[in-house]
Amino acid sequence: MVPTYLIKPHLQRHYPTVQYAKGIYVYDTNGKKYVDGCSGAVTANLGHGVPEIIEAMKEQANKVSFVYRSQFTSEAAEKLAETLNERIGGETRYWTFLVNSGSEATETAMKIAIQYWQEKGKKGKNKILSRWLSYHGITLGALSMSGHTARRERFVPLLEDFPNVPPPYCYRCPYQLTWPSCQWRCADELEEAIIRIGAEHIAAFIAEPIIGAAGAALTPPEGYYEHIQAICRRHEILFIADEVMTGLGRTGKMMGLDHWQAKADIIALGKGLGAGYTPIAATLVSEHVIEPIRNGSGVVMSGHTLSANPLSAAVALAVLQYIDQHRLVQKAEEIGSDLFTKLCRLQQKFSWIGDIRGKGLMLGIEFTVPDTKTMMPNKWAFTDIVVTKAQENGLLVYPSAAGNGKDGAAIIIAPPLTIERAQLDELVSLLEEAFHHIEKHFPMKGNGRNDGSRK
Ligand code: PMP
Repeated sequence: MVPTYLIKPHLQRHYPTVQYAKGIYVYDTNGKKYVDGCSGAVTANLGHGVPEIIEAMKEQANKVSFVYRSQFTSEAAEKLAETLNERIGGETRYWTFLVNSGSEATETAMKIAIQYWQEKGKKGKNKILSRWLSYHGITLGALSMSGHTARRERFVPLLEDFPNVPPPYCYRCPYQLTWPSCQWRCADELEEAIIRIGAEHIAAFIAEPIIGAAGAALTPPEGYYEHIQAICRRHEILFIADEVMTGLGRTGKMMGLDHWQAKADIIALGKGLGAGYTPIAATLVSEHVIEPIRNGSGVVMSGHTLSANPLSAAVALAVLQYIDQHRLVQKAEEIGSDLFTKLCRLQQKFSWIGDIRGKGLMLGIEFTVPDTKTMMPNKWAFTDIVVTKAQENGLLVYPSAAGNGKDGAAIIIAPPLTIERAQLDELVSLLEEAFHHIEKHFPMKGNGRNDGSRK
């Protein structure tokens, strides 16, 4: 047996060992059952143990699992690129770069954006702007673009100096404004930053349409991305949509950005593409961005040995077919709206639930600031308490930073898109029990007010 200390990222924490998982349920080796309320990390979108995906995996393994990508492409990878274009492209044609993780997908997007300007003779355009409370991946390039304070701080001296602008954080608006009278004040800061830094130094702006890991489903108001897109176009800056978490149905639309009338020049996909069955991610680059590269050097520095391997591509293809056949995008919208209502009812019972937000089956709960004199000197510790209590109670939820990206208590509820209506009650009552337990054992003083402060 592998010594467990070799595979556990948090060295001081106890992890149960998973034995198997089926549908929305995960079982550990002690026979304990958990409801997967966050699809692993908003990844296992189809739930666990789906026979069609397992079959596709076997079928491809029997044909060929690996080809050397400098010499070959594969039928599975070609079909996947074609299908992604059919499902996502609409009028736009995307060139597809298959990689293995969301971090590689955003990093590839970053490199292609920089190369695009180089090939057009604008070599100085190499900064990528992003927002605070954003997460684009863990490799140094992707982390440089991320405004996730907690994940960045230890590596700051090594990171690229990529500026961040404020997120659309309506619950704690730093300007103490409300929408629509705010007129997207936070988006205007992008324009101010571009003018300050100089558009001649900026290649792109990257954003998660609905903010995940660092913002617990922070959802910008109507018109926000239209405004952002206009700013990017006005200053000749590419717009990269990081759809690693929001893409492929999670938010009740095929892509998260589809909730707004805006289009990205480059899209990063991950998580839901392999749905947890295989490591696969993709960077989709629209034709107009590829054009100067194709007419110029003709080469994109992207990919690793295992990128675009046929086994992963076949799985992703089966995942896309499954989403289509089972109407999972529509289902996420319908079931998600039921779940939203149920979580709002929960908010009536617990005054320390500050905000419920999100779209489809990507919903966030942000907790108000608890009494720091009791047992929560660090607000992030409260997230840990919620996640641990929920897990002890048989429910898996996703911890999110919110607040200032370091301290701040929030979770994401994002069950598999295949969850049945009847299973929602089970999920919500497990959450409610965990909240009752927390309230009983950790005195709480929060209230649901938006105090408007920048925590
Ligand atoms: N972008 C977003 C929006 C993400 O949520 C994540 C993962 N949480 C990543 C990028 C990085 O993906 P990966 O962990 O697969 O590298």
